[in-house]
Amino acid sequence: MTYKRIHNFNAGPAALPIEVLEEIKTDLIDYKGNGLSVLEMSHRSKAYDEIIKNAEKDMRELLGIPDNYTVMFLQGGATLQFAMVPLNLLPDNKPADYINTGTWSTKAIEEAQKLGKTPRVIASSEDKEFTYIPKNFTINKDSAYLHITSNNTIRGTEWQSFPETNGIDLVCDMSSDFCSRPVDVKKFALIYAGAQKNVGPAGATVVIIRNDLLERSPKNIPTMCNYKIMAKEPSLYNTPPAFTIYVIGLVMKYLKKIGGLEKMYEMNKAKAKILYDRLDKNDFYRGTVEKDSRSLMNIPFRLKNEQLEEKFLKEAKAAGMEGLKGHRSVGGVRASLYNAVPKESVQALVNFMDEFEKKNS
Ligand code: PMP
Repeated sequence: MTYKRIHNFNAGPAALPIEVLEEIKTDLIDYKGNGLSVLEMSHRSKAYDEIIKNAEKDMRELLGIPDNYTVMFLQGGATLQFAMVPLNLLPDNKPADYINTGTWSTKAIEEAQKLGKTPRVIASSEDKEFTYIPKNFTINKDSAYLHITSNNTIRGTEWQSFPETNGIDLVCDMSSDFCSRPVDVKKFALIYAGAQKNVGPAGATVVIIRNDLLERSPKNIPTMCNYKIMAKEPSLYNTPPAFTIYVIGLVMKYLKKIGGLEKMYEMNKAKAKILYDRLDKNDFYRGTVEKDSRSLMNIPFRLKNEQLEEKFLKEAKAAGMEGLKGHRSVGGVRASLYNAVPKESVQALVNFMDEFEKKNS
């Protein structure tokens, strides 16, 4: 069946694979002969047990998550993880190191400060408006962990490789590039990611935690913020975001079907190249981040004549391209090219950019 679909460049919630949407549609009224939808079923039912177990199993397979890690689907967004990480991992008020690469890292640092913890910023790219990933930094030996943000959704920078921490636990906010490329999970002590960019709709945050860290969770923190309690019966201490987890499961199945994360990564590199090549062609458009820090997921750019940006966005929208306005804190244009954004959409954007240049230069 064909649908009228926009070119979806939203930063999150964002595009989902059409195959996944089709499957949701098929399942919606009567989930596989159960006579009810996933929206209506008990999270303790046999049918749901299978859904959540398969979502976890497929995620483990895709990412190669070792057995000594627990996978949880929690609520409160990645934003709650800014607090849960220090609440659970710094019970004795040991200091922790943070690298500040933009708005979301800044929020993670502020949240740790609010809780009376000691986040130490060992590197920051604020001096150049967060347009690069810092390279030179020394991790303190007494640090409980190093916190980084793998992809900076607003500024469009991404860690190309992850830092060597020499035994210090690495904690990573992977919200906006989770499952967009393979990662070596055992390099991380904890990974968290809001679902709503690459792996599903809003409502669940994936937390992958190495089991020994669970022993650090103090007893006197709220139950819903306690990793140890949440991990005991993963994601089922209380009612989980059931429908979101179901969709995450479908996305995992889809990613496996297309060839896994290596394949997804190849596709993402090819898509981003189309747009970066266009930005590098001449100076009518200008990418805003340093080349060796460029994100495959979020690509911000400006027009040489910034006065034309409003017109650009208006005409792009009229041509069926949505979500291109830069984040309200930085302005300009930003195209988010998450997993489910097809190559054809990126090509359509570049064609539109060429046309717009011709008419306006
Ligand atoms: N971290 C990053 C990198 C993000 O992009 C976002 C949301 N855009 C957040 C954290 C906050 O996520 P949530 O809205 O799920 O709390």
